Amino acid sequence: MDKNTDKVCLVCKQDENQVPLVQVDFKGNNYYICPQHIPVLIHDPAQLEGLLPGAGTMQAG
Ligand SMILES: [Zn+2]
Repeated sequence: MDKNTDKVCLVCKQDENQVPLVQVDFKGNNYYICPQHIPVLIHDPAQLEGLLPGAGTMQAG
């Protein structure tokens, strides 16, 4: 796997020293996302395709 163990927001790459990070477990992998980008994950996950493998198939909330 690539460096998904890095604790950075998968969208903006800010780390836990810059923003609070929320852990996302998805398809057996762990990702982190900051509060600023949680709405993207909820409402427009297709935007995360490429960042979060398989996100393009997720249902928008
Ligand atoms: Zn972010």
